[in-house]
Amino acid sequence: MQHPEPPIDCTLCSRLSAFRAANAQNHPEWFNAPVPSFGDSDARMLIVGLAPGLQGANKTGRPFTGDYAGDLLYATLAKFGYSTGSYDSHAEDGLALNKCMITNAVRCVPPQNKPTGEEERHCRPFLVARIAHLSQLSVIMALGKIAHDSTLVAMGHRKSAFKFAHGAVHKLDDRLTLFDSYHCSRYNTNTRRLTPEMFEDVFVSISEFMAPTGPTGRTT
Ligand code: URA
Repeated sequence: MQHPEPPIDCTLCSRLSAFRAANAQNHPEWFNAPVPSFGDSDARMLIVGLAPGLQGANKTGRPFTGDYAGDLLYATLAKFGYSTGSYDSHAEDGLALNKCMITNAVRCVPPQNKPTGEEERHCRPFLVARIAHLSQLSVIMALGKIAHDSTLVAMGHRKSAFKFAHGAVHKLDDRLTLFDSYHCSRYNTNTRRLTPEMFEDVFVSISEFMAPTGPTGRTT
């Protein structure tokens, strides 16, 4: 069976491995490798992001960690009881996720934050395997349309089968339900396309869906 995480020296995407090598030259102290998924192997929810940010996840080695988008994501996870410890923008902050895992549709940092369709395809087997390895999984939360599309294809659906919309809920099969959110990127939050309240509303839907055995709602 396919391993759910790419090897540290993955060369499936020539552009991305060249970018990693260039970043390693310029910043040898950074992680500069495919960023592994982070969280609980008993996760009931898998959050799928786009790709590591250059000076965030690519630097720290943990999804969304040190990225602007991570501030809202990790604060919201804490609020809904999906984490213990406190998030502090680096991978040694002691934060642990509870019943939740975070991954990316593309595991290596892409130039200008934009993976190509081919790079998404190359990386998809790792998403397929990630989903398959989580035996307790019932919910996938897609952050943005690329994560939504990549999840659909990973699950054997056509992209046209389910339309991306913030707050949309799609029953993918007997096991998995997909919840869509706008990506919690700096651009989306600064323009208020995504407000913290809108983001929390998706978590409320997920908590209601997972009740009574999952985290049941805001803890603060
Ligand atoms: N950092 C990540 O790891 N993923 C994203 O989608 C954005 C920032």
